[in-house]
Amino acid sequence: MATVRSIAQPDSRAMDFVSRTHKMLINGQWVEAVSGKTFPTYNPATGEVLSRIAEGDREDIDRAVKSARAAFETGPWSRLTPSERGRLIWKLADLLEQNLEEFAELETLDNGKPFKVARVADVPLAVDLFRYMAGWATKIEGTTIPISVPYAPGAKYLAYTLREPVGVVGQIIPWNFPLLMAAWKLGPALATGCTVVIKPAEQTPLTCIRLGELVQEAGIPDGVVNIVPGYGETAGAALAAHPGVDKIAFTGSTEVGKLILQAAAGNLKKVSLELGGKSPNVVLGDVDVNAAIAGSASAIFFNHGQCCCAGSRLYIEDQIFDRVVEGVAEQAGKIRVGSGMDSTTDMGPLVSEEQLNRVCGYLESGLSDGAKAVVGGSRFGDKGYFVKPTVLVNTNDKMKVVQEEIFGPVVTAIPFKDTEELVTKANDTVYGLAAGIWTRDIQKAHRIASQLRAGTVWINCYNIFDAALPFGGYKQSGWGREMGKDVLELYTEVKAVCAAI
Ligand code: ADP
Repeated sequence: MATVRSIAQPDSRAMDFVSRTHKMLINGQWVEAVSGKTFPTYNPATGEVLSRIAEGDREDIDRAVKSARAAFETGPWSRLTPSERGRLIWKLADLLEQNLEEFAELETLDNGKPFKVARVADVPLAVDLFRYMAGWATKIEGTTIPISVPYAPGAKYLAYTLREPVGVVGQIIPWNFPLLMAAWKLGPALATGCTVVIKPAEQTPLTCIRLGELVQEAGIPDGVVNIVPGYGETAGAALAAHPGVDKIAFTGSTEVGKLILQAAAGNLKKVSLELGGKSPNVVLGDVDVNAAIAGSASAIFFNHGQCCCAGSRLYIEDQIFDRVVEGVAEQAGKIRVGSGMDSTTDMGPLVSEEQLNRVCGYLESGLSDGAKAVVGGSRFGDKGYFVKPTVLVNTNDKMKVVQEEIFGPVVTAIPFKDTEELVTKANDTVYGLAAGIWTRDIQKAHRIASQLRAGTVWINCYNIFDAALPFGGYKQSGWGREMGKDVLELYTEVKAVCAAI
């Protein structure tokens, strides 16, 4: 592992943006918080304050919800044709693409991830998502339904369904893919004709705020997109509980997901949740070992393990266990840890001091429970929030490091003998977000895929995302699917219209 490098100088546009104190976007105006308060966002590579942001709270959320309601009920947005809506979303995608490097730099500065990753993954995926959703704006259809009505013999009816926007949507965004997660939520809301109040994560509000500027530049009418940065317990909780919100879309921890659900009960708003995971990544004995090693390393170490679908439980068939563990550990050892702005960096810091402490706490707990770190096992350096990529062995099913979501670059490698035992173990957590299977035996791969209780199963690949592919969880990993055609269900109501003819 290389030493922690100093931060390279970002482009002047990103620096200019970072140097400003940011306001919140309500009804097309950039305004300060009602309280006048601001909060800091930090550069996780250095621990230093990056920018200050208006700190939204209950009153700001209330103003934003009223603005979204007015835009939904009576604003120009409500009168736009689907085609016009689609064009605006496409324009937003174009603007994002034109500013790709700036967005990638802002993401790196705020979240810590390598710039070289943000510019090929986070930002292009967000652009693609908006384009995909722009296409859906004109294809949201109901059906005509032949009905029988047994108690009205001889009568004739024309019956059909309409898919209508659900209304005002609250969207609570996590910090691991700040721009992309905002796009996953904003894209379908705009395509279906909803209006939104977005609360970015307090650790990483910058790209969402910058996206708000592009929303205006694209010509999306005032009040359609409102952005209220602030803390989860205040602004987030107020949004989840607000009686004027018709639907809340949340991505974050399972623990907070349950709070969202309780808060939503007041007005029974619709809820979609994309929550935690402890995903099994399974390597069978017949595999192309080198491909499985490279794929399993990236399954856990991509985005520093800060992915809800990270392949954090690595199940390896007995006969190749030592070889695969050695290979993944070797890959981990080669990962260059440092500032995300350095072009040679493979892994940046964790997002915050809190996450650093949380991940290090898990490492200490695993090691004191008897697990062994083949590589890594501790913090990296003493400045910034870096953790060494870690492979743990000698674990058992009861350990916290095997059961709980760590959300860091830590994988537990576990041997197995037969696939029946494997499937039981793989399914033995409260989560069900994703899974990976590595094998040359495609029949076996599909059989295991059908037995795994997970919203996504990758075969001989991992972390493959596409705007057209639905993503979401079984069990306590969530409710509903984002992306693909399925997401439209989360943002629409079905109206049945029945006319006697
Ligand atoms: P993490 O614990 O990994 O930081 P969270 O689930 O706490 O993830 O955060 C995800 C998002 O949820 C953030 O935008 C955060 O501000 C928000 N959030 C946290 N707590 C609450 C809450 N009680 N109500 C609503 N939103 C919350």
